[in-house]
Amino acid sequence: MSTTKILIRGAKILGGEPQDVLIDGETIAAVTPSDIALAGGGGLEAGDAAVVEAGGKILLPGLVDLHTHLREPGREDSETVLTGTRAAAVGGYTAVHAMANTFPVADTAGVVEQVWRLGRESGYCDVQPVGAVTVGLEGKQLAELGAMADSAAGVRVFSDDGKCVDDAVIMRRALEYVKAFDGVVAQHAQEPRLTEGAQMNEGVVSGELGLRGWPAVAEESIIARDVLLAAHVGSRVHICHLSTAGSVEIVRWAKSKGWDVTAEVTPHHLLLTDELVRSYDPVYKVNPPLRTEADVMALREALADGTIDCVATDHAPHPHEDKDCEWAAAAMGMVGLETALSVVQHTMVDTGLLDWAGVADRMSWRPAAIGRLAGHGRPVSAGEPANLTLVDPAYRGVVNPAGFASRSRNTPYVGIELPGQVIATFLRGKATVMDGKLT
Ligand SMILES: [Zn+2]
Repeated sequence: MSTTKILIRGAKILGGEPQDVLIDGETIAAVTPSDIALAGGGGLEAGDAAVVEAGGKILLPGLVDLHTHLREPGREDSETVLTGTRAAAVGGYTAVHAMANTFPVADTAGVVEQVWRLGRESGYCDVQPVGAVTVGLEGKQLAELGAMADSAAGVRVFSDDGKCVDDAVIMRRALEYVKAFDGVVAQHAQEPRLTEGAQMNEGVVSGELGLRGWPAVAEESIIARDVLLAAHVGSRVHICHLSTAGSVEIVRWAKSKGWDVTAEVTPHHLLLTDELVRSYDPVYKVNPPLRTEADVMALREALADGTIDCVATDHAPHPHEDKDCEWAAAAMGMVGLETALSVVQHTMVDTGLLDWAGVADRMSWRPAAIGRLAGHGRPVSAGEPANLTLVDPAYRGVVNPAGFASRSRNTPYVGIELPGQVIATFLRGKATVMDGKLT
């Protein structure tokens, strides 16, 4: 769409009454006042604007992911900043946080600026690099946190994701350090000794299959330690990909104390269980592992009641040679950007646990706030940046990874029918997706 004016006609903003939204250049110029919309009249004049008919569709602020693996630099065979941001746009995202476990590791101002620039050049989605907490993700020595914060990338989220910052002294120092620039440490909670050689969730299924278990307490003990450390230091801590009912209880307790603790859950932990591992299909091998039905239900309730702040994809692309092998040898992780909103609709909206305003909160406003990301996660109102996602909630379709924009195909939803489709995504007024396809 070459025109700079776009009129989105009759969209249900956050699932409300149909309203018109006029985009002019990079910003939202006007929105039908909601009292007029309620009375059923008073649409905006199209004038010279291109019109997008959006009757029955839901308009959300552009989605924000706190946890994406873009793999560039170093593993461009899995994903690049360009292919990953195209996948993000298809999924309705206008901003993603790119995790630091690349080659080289994003532990210096130079590497985070490189990733940030590649994101700007891609034009599909803003890329906010996450900085490593420790040099080389080795957990021994703090990385240049201040230099990354001061860099053009303006890093505010730091994580050794893929690995746990398991040394309590290093974790304490990181929490103290990031206070200077309002940063946050995002912890991959995995006690390393308790998970040595772990292949799947420790429980009934692992016992029957004879696979080494990854116990819930390995996650929960680190979360308990870190919320206490964060409270002691007076700093912000964010817990990546919560996967157990016990983790939910610890975060709930920490929040009841008024501590600055936030948490995320992945779409796959809201839907899939360790029963799927019986297939020995490595597509289900993920870190943290798929847990039990009781864990899944606890995570859904915690996302609904706000104990878990947001949904993060943990989009983890792998080429087929790293996944199409025996279970023990396969890489951990699954792609998620292009299916996240559908899984959230299926597990949270269609079940009545969350309305669309709740989805906007958990998938846009909260992750943008945690990442201190300006310009995203803003209300859909006049004067705001036109970062928007238009969703058809009535759509039903079978997931076919052959059509993915991601370079990788490791999705657990092959052949599964999921609801909802992103019809259009706008990044600062420019359509990155229109009619469900990349522009
Ligand atoms: Zn992780």
